[in-house]
Amino acid sequence: MQYNSQNIKDRLFLFTPGPVNVAESVRSAICKTDICHREEDFEFLLLSIEKKLLKLFEIKETDNYRAVVITGSGTAANESILSSVVGNKNILILSNGEFGERLYNISKIHNQNTSILKFAWGEQLDLETIDAYLKNNDVDIISMVHHETSSGMLNPIEQVGQLSIVHNKMFIVDCVSSAGAEPIDIEKCNISFCSSSSSKAIGSYPGVSFVIGAKREFEKLKDMPIKTTYLNLYKFYHFITVYSQTPNTPAVPLLFAFERALLNILEEGVGNRHKHINMLANLLREGMERLGLKFLINREDMCSVLTTIHIPSHVDLDVFKSKLRDKRIIIYDGKGPFSNKVFQVGNIGTLTPDDIDYFLNSLKEVLQTFEKFPFIENILENNKEMETVY
Ligand SMILES: *Cc1c(COP(=O)(O)O)cnc(C)c1O
Repeated sequence: MQYNSQNIKDRLFLFTPGPVNVAESVRSAICKTDICHREEDFEFLLLSIEKKLLKLFEIKETDNYRAVVITGSGTAANESILSSVVGNKNILILSNGEFGERLYNISKIHNQNTSILKFAWGEQLDLETIDAYLKNNDVDIISMVHHETSSGMLNPIEQVGQLSIVHNKMFIVDCVSSAGAEPIDIEKCNISFCSSSSSKAIGSYPGVSFVIGAKREFEKLKDMPIKTTYLNLYKFYHFITVYSQTPNTPAVPLLFAFERALLNILEEGVGNRHKHINMLANLLREGMERLGLKFLINREDMCSVLTTIHIPSHVDLDVFKSKLRDKRIIIYDGKGPFSNKVFQVGNIGTLTPDDIDYFLNSLKEVLQTFEKFPFIENILENNKEMETVY
């Protein structure tokens, strides 16, 4: 169905951490024009995306970094790194949730020497424990998630990056759900490779992911064992540096949309975009606190992308979600140990302060339909009155 002002009422409000509501300019970019990806039209597009990615990450020494673009969701970028850079070295995954565990599971398939330092879901990574682990174990590479989307916690990549410098380890970061919303200083954090995708805070359609890496680290991949054909990271690097191309057929329409979403952020200003997302998160959080809702983690530990909220004990999640859906609002379920205990509300994409207001008003209305045994409470109230009368 066409999206236009006649049927705007059919719009869904995606209060999720991706997919997101995309800007009109992104929606129209997807069907920009038909090009052949083996012609210079595509080469310009790919190099334009790369340049914009290095700007989005505010890289200073741009000559030292390259970005490769992969057709596939964020997992494709993660798997291309984990299958291509480790070889037979020892990799340690730091995990405090679903997405840390996913890094472990991906790495384990390609590398036997994968270990994991697990912290409880929703708990902070403990830097002293990590430091001690690095002292006492043979680790070559550290990998972690920046924004652990399952709890909403923003993990300390600067501090872990410092540990990677002190202990002389390679450092890999999954920035899938933080890029575009939170500052990520690849140079300062000593990051060799990081991954992200099109469909979260960058605000485009799903299906495109990318890896930004240090040139000298990409170069080192040349002699590494090849473990996958499609996600061979060195091949992506080789193709972009030598031919300004991707190894296989790219999803060109999605790349048009992705380029436009990146341009939108650069036109707004990277810092302004971060501030805007933060402002929306604060509106949302203050509104939900006023409704008496309790968050899973402390506000100061949260990423600006989403909020994780305890489901009040008298509320049935499925009913709650479907009542919000009736108001065209989509929220997210908790995963793993959090399933049926929390719900998640994102504030990225084209959502505006007015949309946040609409959400908060709808949330209030829906919550009021779940009153706690009002019947019994009224009786108790009446009994009290009777007691005082006698
Ligand atoms: C969304 C996400 C991914 C990628 O998941 P896909 O299903 O491949 O899009 C990876 N890491 C984090 C932290 C994420 O939030």
